[in-house]
Amino acid sequence: MKNSKSILIGILVLLIIYGCSLKQENAVEHALVLHGGSVSNPALISETKQKVYKQSLDKAVELGDSLLKLGKTSLEVVEQVISLLENDSLFNAGRGAVFTHDGLVELDASIMNGEDLNAGSVCGLKDVKNPIKAARKVMEKSRHVMLSGSGASQFAYEQGLEMIDNKYFHTQNSQKLLQGLLNKQSQGSKDNKYGTVGCVALDKYGNIAAGTSTGGMNNKRYGRIGDSPIIGAGTYANNKTCGVSCTGWGEYYIRLGFSRDISALVEYKGLSVTDACEEEIRKLTKLGGFGGVIALSPNGDVAMSYNTTGMFRAFKKSSGEKMVSIYNEKQ
Ligand code: ASP
Repeated sequence: MKNSKSILIGILVLLIIYGCSLKQENAVEHALVLHGGSVSNPALISETKQKVYKQSLDKAVELGDSLLKLGKTSLEVVEQVISLLENDSLFNAGRGAVFTHDGLVELDASIMNGEDLNAGSVCGLKDVKNPIKAARKVMEKSRHVMLSGSGASQFAYEQGLEMIDNKYFHTQNSQKLLQGLLNKQSQGSKDNKYGTVGCVALDKYGNIAAGTSTGGMNNKRYGRIGDSPIIGAGTYANNKTCGVSCTGWGEYYIRLGFSRDISALVEYKGLSVTDACEEEIRKLTKLGGFGGVIALSPNGDVAMSYNTTGMFRAFKKSSGEKMVSIYNEKQ
């Protein structure tokens, strides 16, 4: 009797140890997900161009993963990954940003720390090379959350960030896109350049950060600001729920309080990040808006939802799981 009792206890102990090791194996220590904008052009991007985009996305996700492996914080990773994408003229952020109606480039960006809900954002910047760096400075070195226009530029300058002439952002491609709209040769979504960039990271300390950077909408006027620099619309992060970054027709994202709503769906309704993103995308579709979203949970669950034909996107987890994708293809 005594013997069978101790055998039973032994088996139980073994089962617990086995369960723990399984959990360990599946646990995600760190992860990141990023996007390079939604794609709503119904005609597929050429194979060659897809390859070029995927190379850039791959470079960015690998950079983020290597920094996370080194023990860098999620905030640092979000800033570095987005800076890399801002310096890449393929995307509608930083160097490759679209033009305003007046032929200038005006940039918006935001960043949020899920650990303490601290946040920083800039909008309407004309002369700061990496707006995401300015957003982080606002968060960490000012008493404010959001700075705009010349004041934001002055602050960035005083913080020692790299300032640059607006011409640096004037790429031929963006010029052509604006001209297309001004000439009214071809109207509609075909003329929009997609490629707002965003990143959400979870570090090994359990902290989530999210950030977004954009040139906004092609041909925008009157100092228009979209969702990307608005905390709760284009960007949100909370260690308790998830980190979120959006891309798409900004006005709809602002009206929905899109990213904060996703966090609320996780917090109050107990939804998974994927279900919360899908539900929010359904609301977007119902209103007539379009775009996409990426999100990351504290467990390292990744969500990437969109109602467009595609979204430039990638993720990588410490478990080695990885994806780089544009349409519905697996890789
Ligand atoms: N959401 C951005 C904006 O409205 C644009 C985009 O993501 O394509 O400014």
